[in-house]
Amino acid sequence: MNNPTAFAAACLAADIPLRENVPLSTCTTLRLGGPAQYFYEAEGVEPISRLLAIAKTHGTPVTVIGRGSNLLVRDGGVPGVTVRIGAGMSAITRGPGENTLTAEAGASLGALAHRAAEEGLAGLAFAAGIPGSVGGGALMNAGAYGGELGPLITRVEALRPDGTAAVFAGEAIAWDYRHTSLMDSGIIVTRVTFALQPGAREAILAEMAELNRRRAEKQPITEPSAGSTFKRPVGGFAAALIDQCGLKGASVGGARVSEKHAGFLVNHGQSAADFLALMEHVRGTVLRETGIELEPEVRIIGVDQ
Ligand SMILES: Cc1cc2nc3c(=O)[nH]c(=O)nc-3n(C[C@H](O)[C@H](O)[C@H](O)COP(=O)(O)OP(=O)(O)OC[C@H]3O[C@@H](n4cnc5c(N)ncnc54)[C@H](O)[C@@H]3O)c2cc1C
Repeated sequence: MNNPTAFAAACLAADIPLRENVPLSTCTTLRLGGPAQYFYEAEGVEPISRLLAIAKTHGTPVTVIGRGSNLLVRDGGVPGVTVRIGAGMSAITRGPGENTLTAEAGASLGALAHRAAEEGLAGLAFAAGIPGSVGGGALMNAGAYGGELGPLITRVEALRPDGTAAVFAGEAIAWDYRHTSLMDSGIIVTRVTFALQPGAREAILAEMAELNRRRAEKQPITEPSAGSTFKRPVGGFAAALIDQCGLKGASVGGARVSEKHAGFLVNHGQSAADFLALMEHVRGTVLRETGIELEPEVRIIGVDQ
């Protein structure tokens, strides 16, 4: 039933501009991955909705990405259409109601945190250094330094896989550690509302600067990575376990366990297969040595070469 050529022709006829064979290594912070068969840079909810309906008709798989900061794309790329929710959908507005901000899913978490500070709204300083989007952050319940997005979110607007609109109240969503009930539903987050508290602009900016300083001191933020590769396991910290197993600096090809922070696997090569092999080496070694099973935090998409 999947007919990519007919899908592309239908998108063209519907005035939805697709690009073909776009290297996803240019769309991820890990700088790895093969091409998207078709690629659509989203510029609004309505065209995505039409694209989803066309994809459904033609049986074309749809993959959504944000700022690509928690993504490992396999070397064979991603079949079907990849929809990127980024700069074209990044408006942030105050309201509705007191002490809230509403952001389109493509806004960066950094921009959101800074806007909150400028508006004198506290609660998002922890998110200033997370290099993802509002949509990706909501989907993953991104968090740092004791804060998480989920508890601040009062409303999520989204599109279902068939292109119809859906709205979720924040309290109707299960917000767990780097996991949410949104994740398994196949929806595309389009807009998110955050409830914050009044705060002093200068104090919020100072807190953000301090957290970003701590991040730069501890994490290899100038090297290509997807942040923490593994989730924090029950009863331990992934970085400490990896370090304890003597894996700092371990490598497969250009993929390496960071010397600065063992929880970060960094990439200095061009092979997602090498990165996956290193992940497996780390997971297997930690399991053997400590009995604790590490689970990936990074989302792995696409097909092998
Ligand atoms: C240096 C570095 C530091 C990091 N530090 C942190 C940290 O402190 N805390 C933390 O939680 N994370 C951290 N991360 C990981 C990452 O930034 C977050 O997980 C972020 O929320 C991912 O957002 P994204 O837009 O980049 O999503 P992507 O990586 O593009 O996608 C991640 C997942 O979200 C889905 N997705 C993306 N956008 C949407 C959407 N609009 N609707 C539905 N699904 C969507 C994708 O399909 C994929 O499954 C770090 C990453 C790096 C590189």
